[in-house]
Amino acid sequence: VFIAFEGGDGAGKTTQIELLRVRLVDAGYDVVVTREPGGTPLGESIRAVLLHGDHVAPRAEALLFAADRAHHVATVVRPALARGAVVLQDRYVDSSVAYQGAGRELDPADIKGLSMWATEGLLPDLTVLLDVTPEVGRARRGAVHDRLESEQDDFHARVREHYRDLAASSAERYLVIDASLPAEEIAAIVADRVEPV
Ligand code: C5P
Ligand code: MG
Repeated sequence: VFIAFEGGDGAGKTTQIELLRVRLVDAGYDVVVTREPGGTPLGESIRAVLLHGDHVAPRAEALLFAADRAHHVATVVRPALARGAVVLQDRYVDSSVAYQGAGRELDPADIKGLSMWATEGLLPDLTVLLDVTPEVGRARRGAVHDRLESEQDDFHARVREHYRDLAASSAERYLVIDASLPAEEIAAIVADRVEPV
């Protein structure tokens, strides 16, 4: 079972993944927690270039995220799914579609196509979208730590709108939650939805 967590910076994805991980491990599941960009040694190198390097041209940025994803899916995610593990992943294809497609104003359909090629069409069984406004996200993440976090509110507003559109266009594969709710309340909503999956 493959579950992706998506949402803007400061939405609380990492917190919710940890709460769900503990719950699933307690229930006896084999759980793999992983993230993009990163999640493999090559991916951590790509992450460092993307977050802490100099300017990266938008199309190069999109290709680097796709390269990270291709390697991560082939070497971590697919093997874990093949042995029956539950994979909880911090960001996936929708991050690229929202950030590079809508945020950077590359064509979202092109970015989706690139990721579908990179992953040989692997989609999550469920995507949890933690819906956060640019204002709440900015307050939550506090100081700017990396190049990509320094984008302005209009960028994050485009990202948010696109995430919401994606969720609305295939509602059965998404769980959308207001990220401003208390963490424990969000965790309970996630657990209810994950149980049947
Ligand atoms: O979620 P995480 O903090 O690990 O993401 C690292 C940075 O990369 C964030 O600033 C996020 O906004 C950015 N990002 C991006 N495009 C993606 C994935 C992440 O700009 N496809
Ligand atoms: Mg971050």
